[in-house]
Amino acid sequence: MRAPIPGFTTRFAPAPTGALHLGHAVNAVWVWGLARRFSGTVLLRIEDHDRGRCRPAYEQGILDDLDWLGLAPDGLTTDDFRAGPVPQRQSDNTARYEMRLAELEARGLVFGCRCSRAEIARATNAHEELELVYPGTCRGQGTGVRDQVGLRVIISGEAPERFDDLRLGPQIQDPMTQCGDLLMRDRLSQWTYQFAVTVDDWEQGIDLVIRGEDLLASTGRQLRLARLLGRTTPPAFLHHPLLRHPDGRKLSKSSQDTGLAELRATGWTPARIFGLAAQLSGLQADATPRPLASLADLFD
Ligand code: GLU
Repeated sequence: MRAPIPGFTTRFAPAPTGALHLGHAVNAVWVWGLARRFSGTVLLRIEDHDRGRCRPAYEQGILDDLDWLGLAPDGLTTDDFRAGPVPQRQSDNTARYEMRLAELEARGLVFGCRCSRAEIARATNAHEELELVYPGTCRGQGTGVRDQVGLRVIISGEAPERFDDLRLGPQIQDPMTQCGDLLMRDRLSQWTYQFAVTVDDWEQGIDLVIRGEDLLASTGRQLRLARLLGRTTPPAFLHHPLLRHPDGRKLSKSSQDTGLAELRATGWTPARIFGLAAQLSGLQADATPRPLASLADLFD
């Protein structure tokens, strides 16, 4: 693994669609550990763009778990989030997304799309549950940008995106063949993860994204979108391992999803959770408890 440039700004960005679990603890160990080791700043961002699945109670639970773990964000505190609207909660930021969308639209890069997932899957002979490559059905159809249509940005056949992941090394991804014209807002007027996260990472000055390998395939399209939006200096990326058994097997969904609040209720300490998360993501050989103050040592 290459060391990040000291003084970076990163983020911890849970979605309040459920409780924090061991997978989040792994991400937190990498995010806070690297930040404390390399003089970085950690911003908390609540990624509640999916209005259908997010719940205020989950957000409260996330804030409480962070407080219990001692994971204090730099900048806005968990109490700032509790107190009301803040710029780092996606649902408080509609105006910012509207503005960025309008800029793309003014450049002729946005079109309205009526296609459902099922229709795209049928048109491309793909399985609806898998990642779909948009076949361009509504592009050039003059479907106006208005309510009840999805909004896509035109992804043309530029050179593939290249980036050098701090842990995984050089990567090449081609958004045109991976996903095609990217959905930014869906037919219910909800901002998509790809769009919201790209705008936020730019606006919040995130210059190092630290997240799990499950999001590796999103990186090329986020880089492309950031450039289309006008970001000239892209962030660096570090994708960390997902939870693994000590012997390398993947953890079952149920043990990955073990809620931190449940562990706490059965007597686990934060140090014990950090120790297990460090072991299961390959940062230490065993599950020896690891206090918050020594997370940085995992990255010496
Ligand atoms: N909100 C995403 C999650 O909870 C993280 C997105 C990201 O790190 O880019 O998995």
